[in-house]
Amino acid sequence: MEKEQKKVIIRIALSAILFVAALIIESDYVKIPFLTIAYLISGWDVLWRSVRNVSRVYFLDEQFLMSIATLGAFAIGEYPEAVAVMAFYQIGELFQDIAVSKSRRSITALMDIRPDHAVVEYADGSVRTVAPDSVSVGSIIVVKPGEKIPLDGCVVSGYSAIDTSALTGESMPREVSAGDSVLSGTLNMSGMLRIRTSGSYGESTVVKIINLVENAETGKAKTEKFITRFARYYTPVVVAVAVLVAVVPPLITGGDWIEWLDRALVALVISCPCALVISVPLSFYAGIGCASRHGILIKGSNYLEILARADTIVFDKTGTLTNGDFYVTAVHPECVDSDRLLYLAACAERYSDHPVAVSLRKASGQNLDEAEVSDVRDFSGEGIFAKVEGHDVYAGNTRLMERAGVEARECDRIGTIVHVAVDGKYMGHIVISDSLKPESTESVKTLIRKGVSRIVMLTGDRQDVADSVARQAGIAEVYAGLLPVDKVRRMESLHSDSGYTGRVAFVGDGINDAPVLKMADVGIAMGAMGSDAAIEAADVVLMDDNPLKIPVSIDVSRKTMRIVRQNIVFAIGVKLIVLALGTAGLTGMWAAVFADIGVTVIAIFNAMRALYCSQR
Ligand code: ADP
Ligand code: MG
Repeated sequence: MEKEQKKVIIRIALSAILFVAALIIESDYVKIPFLTIAYLISGWDVLWRSVRNVSRVYFLDEQFLMSIATLGAFAIGEYPEAVAVMAFYQIGELFQDIAVSKSRRSITALMDIRPDHAVVEYADGSVRTVAPDSVSVGSIIVVKPGEKIPLDGCVVSGYSAIDTSALTGESMPREVSAGDSVLSGTLNMSGMLRIRTSGSYGESTVVKIINLVENAETGKAKTEKFITRFARYYTPVVVAVAVLVAVVPPLITGGDWIEWLDRALVALVISCPCALVISVPLSFYAGIGCASRHGILIKGSNYLEILARADTIVFDKTGTLTNGDFYVTAVHPECVDSDRLLYLAACAERYSDHPVAVSLRKASGQNLDEAEVSDVRDFSGEGIFAKVEGHDVYAGNTRLMERAGVEARECDRIGTIVHVAVDGKYMGHIVISDSLKPESTESVKTLIRKGVSRIVMLTGDRQDVADSVARQAGIAEVYAGLLPVDKVRRMESLHSDSGYTGRVAFVGDGINDAPVLKMADVGIAMGAMGSDAAIEAADVVLMDDNPLKIPVSIDVSRKTMRIVRQNIVFAIGVKLIVLALGTAGLTGMWAAVFADIGVTVIAIFNAMRALYCSQR
C-alpha cells in the first residue's frame, strides 16, 4: 500500500474515534466541537481543493458537490451526517485508488518484459554483466536458462526452448538452435545460449513494445471522451436541480425549508459522477491489457470501439494470409543457365525486405556479399531494378518487364513469376510459391461466424495465384494485380460502400501496404516484430503471425464495450432511482452515501472483468 493511502486510513480512523466519542457524550458543548474536528480531519483536503478550484471554469466537480453537501448538512444541524458523508466519500476514494493502482500494476506486470542486464562475452573469453543499452551491435551475449533475452539477435551456439508468451501470447515454447533469430523480451527456458546481437537496445523489439504500451492511452474512445464531457455538464446540472429542490417546493407549498434543504443535499450526494468517470477509462485500460496478454497491441481505446463493430475486413495476401516465405518451384532460363539467372536476381534483391526478395536470396545459395550492387530502385508492387556487376538487372512481374521494355514469356505454372531482364534482354523467369498459413481458413470462418459481413482480399500478385489462395482461405471477394495505389483506391471504395461508418479494418504485413494500413478505420499489422514501418502505421499490432488473433481481438473489444455499456446503464440507473426516492423524502443522506460508494465499487469490479477475457 502506498504512503498516501496509509495517511488517508489514519485520518479516517481518527475521525471515526472522535465520531463515536461524540455520539456517546451527551453534552452539546462537547459533541459539536468533536464532530466539527472529526469533519475537518476527514475532509479538509476536499474542502481546500474545492475552494482553490472556484476560480477555474470547471469548478463544479465531485469534490465541490461533497463540500456543499456536507457544509449544508452542518448548517441545518445534521452534524453526524456531515461527518459520515465526508468519511465515506474518503473511504470510497481510497477504494478506487487501490483498485486503479492494482489494475494498472497487473497490466504493467503483464508487460514486464524489460530486461535489466545483459552478459557480454569478450574476445578473450571473459564475461561481464552490463546494462542492455550499453551493448554494441554484433556483440556476443550469453543468456542462462531462466533469464530474459535482453537484445534481438541470432543464436551462435547452444540449444534451448524459448518462452515467447509475453510478446506473442503463444504458450507453446519455441525451440531454437544455432542460426535461429531470437527476440528480446522472450524468456530462455532450458539451455545456455550464445547470441550475436543484431541491433542496439534502443531499436530492439522489447523497447518498441514498451513504447507502444506506454503510449496506448493516447487515443481515447468516443465513449471515453463522452464521459469526460458528460461529467463536465452533469455536475452543474445536478447543482441546479438541487437548488430548485431546495427552493421551489417550500415556496409553492409553503413547506418546511429545512426539510427540503435536506432533500436537496441528498440529491447532491447521490449525483456524484465518480462511478462513471473512474470505471469507463478503467474498462478500456483493462481491455487493452487483456489484448496485450494475447500478443495483441492496441494503440488506443478508440480502436477497441471500432474493432467491436467492424463489419468489413480486408486482407493483404502475402505475409498476411500466406506465410510469405516463398520457395522456388521452377527456374526457366533463356540464354543463361539457371544458377546465373538466380544469382543475378538474388543480387538485385540484396537490399529488399520483400518476401519475394528473401526467397530468391535463399534459393540462390550463393555468396552474394562479393557482388557489386548499386543504383537499386524499388518499384513497389512490380519488382526491383539494380546494377549488378555492371549489368542493368530488372526482376519482377510483367508490369516491370513492360517498364524495362522487354517482352516477358508466358508461363502456365501456378505461382508468382519473377521475370528477369538483363541489359534490355529477356533472360527467363523464376516461379516461386508461397503457402497458406494453417490458421487463415479458420480465422476467416470464425470472422464470418462472428458476423463480419464482408471479407475481401487485395493483392499485387497474379489473378490465378490470388484465386487459389482465396479459395483455400474461404474468401469470396478478391482483387488481384493491384499496385499500392490501386490498393488505396480499392480501400476508398470499400469505405464508401460501408457508408463511412468507421467499420473497415485492414490487415497487412506493413511491407508496401503502410498507406492502406493508415487509411483503414483500424489498421492491423501482422507479425510486425520485424517491420518498423508497420508498427508506425498500424493501430493494432499482432505480435505473432497468427491470423486467429483477429477474431480474438474482436472478442476482447466486444466484451470491453459490453462492460462499458453495463457500467453506464447501471450507474445512471441506480442514481436516478435513489435521486427520485431522495427527492420524495423516502431515503436520507445515509442511503445516498452508500448508494454512491456501492455503485462505484461495483462498477470498478465490473471494469476489471475486461482484464480477464476468454482464450478464444
Ligand atoms: P501483395 O499485395 O501480395 O503483398 P505486393 O504488392 O508486395 O504483393 O507485390 C505484388 C507483386 O509485385 C508480387 O507478387 C511480385 O510479383 C512483384 N514484386 C513486388 N516486389 C518485388 C520484388 N522485390 N522482387 C520481385 N518481384 C516483386
Ligand atoms: Mg504485401
